[in-house]
Amino acid sequence: MQAGTIVCHTEGMRLIPITEGVYRIPLSWGNAYLLTDGASGALIDTGLRRDRAALTGALAAAGSGSLQIRAVYLTHAHTDHAGNAAYFAGRDAGANGPCTRSARIYLHRREAPCLRAPGTAYIPPHPQCWRRPVTTLIFRAGALLYPVEGCEADCTVDDNDVIDTPAGTLRVVCCPGHTPGHVAYYRERDGLLFSGDAIVHVVPGWLRVALSLPPKVLCWDWEQTLLSARRLAALRPACLLAGHGPPLTQDTARRLQDFVRKL
Ligand SMILES: [Zn+2]
Repeated sequence: MQAGTIVCHTEGMRLIPITEGVYRIPLSWGNAYLLTDGASGALIDTGLRRDRAALTGALAAAGSGSLQIRAVYLTHAHTDHAGNAAYFAGRDAGANGPCTRSARIYLHRREAPCLRAPGTAYIPPHPQCWRRPVTTLIFRAGALLYPVEGCEADCTVDDNDVIDTPAGTLRVVCCPGHTPGHVAYYRERDGLLFSGDAIVHVVPGWLRVALSLPPKVLCWDWEQTLLSARRLAALRPACLLAGHGPPLTQDTARRLQDFVRKL
């Protein structure tokens, strides 16, 4: 990415331009991203279910009320990323009869079962649940308090797949660990990396802005989480657009290298 292509990222705005055709939508726990060519749009992640009004309001502002979301690209199916995927696909409980919402849902094949059964997908199975009681408790409580409507994915993606979006071509980068099928999306032409929760840009607890990993207790496999962070840093992206926290736009590649060196 060339210097000066970042338009602005002022906190408090609901739709924050990052660069041409790419917007950040800050939601209650994290970010969704809008990719648009002006006529149609796609989302990377969809926030919590309770973020729906904020999300649809931001999209209305982006497209003067007429922007058609044709795809949802999920980094993973946790409740704060997949909470509105079924809604945009027109497969939520409120979508009776003909529905203009018809986005296609993309996610990794190992994550697809989690979107199909989100209430139980991330709860460690017996007997691992006894070895990870806090993880079990958190995901059980999360499923009750912040439910996700289960649905089928339309397209499963895998490492190095190339997908055509309204904001250009993205490459799928597998980065499992936080979840079994976590992926990042990378726009190689200018180095935009949508990292989901594989690397975040806020310290867990939302206390300060800094490169970080999600809490170990929320990760499916910690060793894989570390390996995946190193893999993403090796891409040397120009801009990190994480699932949580503001964009990292300055000296991004070096700061990521420094971060993973200390893991
Ligand atoms: Zn997550």
